[in-house]
Amino acid sequence: MSIDFDVVVIGGGPSGLSTAYFLSKYGFNVLVLERGSKLGSKNVFGGRVYSYPFDKYFPGWRDELNVERWVSHEKLITLCKEDSIELTLARGSSDKYKSFTIFLSKLLEWMGERVESEGGVIATGVKADKIIFEDNVVSGVEAGGDVIKSLYVVFAEGVNSVLAEEYKLKSKPSPDKYAVGVKEVFKVDRSKINNLFGLDNDSGVAAYILGGPLKGVRGGGFLYTMRDYISLGVVVHLNEAFEEVYPRELIEDLRLHPYMQKIFKDATLIEYSARLVSEAGLHGILEKPYGDGYLIVGDSAGYVLNTGFTVRGVDYAVLSGKYAADTIKYSHENGSRDSKFLAKYMELVKSSPIYHGLKKFKDVDKALSDRYVYSILPGILCRLFNKVYSTGEEPYKLYDSLIDSIKSESGIINLIYKLITLGRSI
Ligand SMILES: Cc1cc2nc3c(=O)[nH]c(=O)nc-3n(C[C@H](O)[C@H](O)[C@H](O)COP(=O)(O)OP(=O)(O)OC[C@H]3O[C@@H](n4cnc5c(N)ncnc54)[C@H](O)[C@@H]3O)c2cc1C
Repeated sequence: MSIDFDVVVIGGGPSGLSTAYFLSKYGFNVLVLERGSKLGSKNVFGGRVYSYPFDKYFPGWRDELNVERWVSHEKLITLCKEDSIELTLARGSSDKYKSFTIFLSKLLEWMGERVESEGGVIATGVKADKIIFEDNVVSGVEAGGDVIKSLYVVFAEGVNSVLAEEYKLKSKPSPDKYAVGVKEVFKVDRSKINNLFGLDNDSGVAAYILGGPLKGVRGGGFLYTMRDYISLGVVVHLNEAFEEVYPRELIEDLRLHPYMQKIFKDATLIEYSARLVSEAGLHGILEKPYGDGYLIVGDSAGYVLNTGFTVRGVDYAVLSGKYAADTIKYSHENGSRDSKFLAKYMELVKSSPIYHGLKKFKDVDKALSDRYVYSILPGILCRLFNKVYSTGEEPYKLYDSLIDSIKSESGIINLIYKLITLGRSI
């Protein structure tokens, strides 16, 4: 057959661009198809990315990529009715550069430049509509009526893998494995951000939020500081979103809490977006993310982990792209498009931080499905802190405060059992 490209990559998110970058670097003739009008226009994420894959595989990235802020402060914020409890890890300077906040569009623009500098081609505003098979081997795509033939196709469609599912290259996952995330981005004065959180221009906050306005639903909130913007979001399990609560209303209630009003009162909303995210962890990954002539990477393959405190998705997407590129190189050197050779991809994934992380947190989906975590625990914390720091005539002893707070929300044995179960899983 006549070949237009060695590899067609469907999707210009972090996994697709990573695949394309390494393949182009290895000398393959690569085409990325991205349905968005420009890179990043269709992608949604919270705002924090871990540095390690870039440190390892993208030499010089820190000089090229203009990050928003380095995450210097990790916060766990429990919102009570009006009060709030904040637990902060202020990182020492040696740990400061291990993760950063950024707009995904900016990251993808930079990754796209890297792809093009290695000779890869990126076609934006082009949607892959069909998959072409020759002798049952995936051999290209059809896009906008054009047939594009290739030796290999990489599916990097993201969480909604419409094509891979339509052609039965992956099974349709059940809705109870997903959550929906909604995010608002506000313009906030840089000096206000710095003053509110005790930051300098370079350092930033990544926060996980639970309690109060989130109404005990299975999910949580997040907040990330950019240089002149703040992202605020909620993630709600799909079983509860739209049935019991509307994510749009939840994020509004969250924003109206006194803690958030200090930040967002008078701030200008500049963006609102929503997207699905896999919550299944290890149980959501594909057993066989490869086949004759194709590989599946990133969210499409289920490589995303919610640890209960943080989300790892972009780093896993970038890593899986590297492993896909290495696998295609290996198969090509062996003159094959056969799944026997492409199976090497799974070997690489299984010996990588992706699989190790997902395996370590293999029970996290079960632990986080317990509503106790979202409704009872925040209540206990709020009562406990209010008692310990009582401003009434008589102070309370810690032990009495603890017993009182637990008793009013839950049984003590029950709490201990829940904490042990949770502690083992997250
Ligand atoms: C609310 C929310 C918050 C998150 N927060 C974080 C975070 O803070 N940190 C983190 O690391 N991860 C986070 N994640 C997860 C992270 O966004 C994903 O893991 C990551 O974006 C996956 O990259 P990907 O390339 O696999 O998929 P995507 O980023 O979804 O990219 C897929 C691309 O494929 C394109 N596409 C799809 N079908 C076609 C087609 N037929 N033709 C052409 N193009 C197509 C899409 O337009 C899209 O650009 C979050 C996710 C959500 C929903």
